[in-house]
Amino acid sequence: MLRPDARSRHAHPAPRPRRHPALPARRVCDPRVARVIRLASNECAAEPSPRALAAYREASTQLKRYPDAGATALRRALGERHGLDPERIVTGQGSEDLIYLVARSYAGPGDEVVVSEFGYSMFPFAVRIAGATVVAAKAAGVAPDVDALLTAVTARCRILYLANPNNPTGACLPFGEIARLQRGLPETVLLVLDAAYAEYVTAADYEPGHRLAATASNVVVLRTFSKAYGLAGLRVGWLHGPADIVDVLNRVRPPTNIAAPAQATALAALADEAHLAAVVAANAATRRRFVQSLTQLGLAPAPSEANFVLVGFPAAPRDAAAAFAFLRGRGILGRRMDPYGLAAHLRFTIGTDEEMSLVLEALADFLA
Ligand code: PMP
Repeated sequence: MLRPDARSRHAHPAPRPRRHPALPARRVCDPRVARVIRLASNECAAEPSPRALAAYREASTQLKRYPDAGATALRRALGERHGLDPERIVTGQGSEDLIYLVARSYAGPGDEVVVSEFGYSMFPFAVRIAGATVVAAKAAGVAPDVDALLTAVTARCRILYLANPNNPTGACLPFGEIARLQRGLPETVLLVLDAAYAEYVTAADYEPGHRLAATASNVVVLRTFSKAYGLAGLRVGWLHGPADIVDVLNRVRPPTNIAAPAQATALAALADEAHLAAVVAANAATRRRFVQSLTQLGLAPAPSEANFVLVGFPAAPRDAAAAFAFLRGRGILGRRMDPYGLAAHLRFTIGTDEEMSLVLEALADFLA
């Protein structure tokens, strides 16, 4: 017998899903705008390495074959490049896939998972899908606060997710703070260090956390080819962690989860160190100029170690919502921060120098 509410929503009997969180609405640009400058998703300003694109084309000749389920060559190359044991690496369809994989492998109904206020939105989504409860620790300004994170950990806590650098704020904790967080955690709590933006960091006191993942029993590090390598469309991420955790994730993930062209392209991108260095240098220079100019305009950019900047706006009528609409009218897509509880801010990806000049011009006109 259908419950009355189910009957009213479905004309016919249908499979009933578990309760899942709603996704935020996607905003699109005015279709009349000729050129759209996409600065909403923290994609790379540059095209991928030409060597990566050549590998992608070459892989297209082998499409009738299944991919290597173990992504062996890619894991071996990652191990060599970063000085890690390839047996302790597991690949995912982007790091978001690994965020979900960890949540459903290590947390469920009745469990708690700690995240930071103003932290990456994918963490709470993954936790809720897994059926566990999200506990958000207060941030210090817009940066994650290690003491608040530790205080939020109860006996029911199974995972603590932390993006460092943090998206959407750009804040980056020094390695000493990460090590202090790990020391303060019970060994039963899995510390997930999401280092999606690690390549972009210029601060000398930063480490993604592989040293901890190699030695502690409860730390994993997430990395991705979507950002500095410019391969967001391919969906390749990886996780480094203790052997028994990697073993669990290998059992839970779908066996052939990384397409063959994705494996080959990521491998070639990894080998082009000069290309990566140029991307990172350009990002740092453009980010510095963008932040300086925003300050001159009277706006409030938050310090960022990543390829995006969180920008504080004044009160209405020159507020963040009005700026977003004004820029969108010129084809410039930033990101509203209301879903993060940062309604007075917009986040802009660092695009090319030319793109950021157009953003600054538009912002100057908006504020005039
Ligand atoms: N972690 C963080 C902090 C991110 O900002 C993003 C992308 N926005 C991801 C993970 C997911 O990236 P991907 O799945 O493309 O690797």
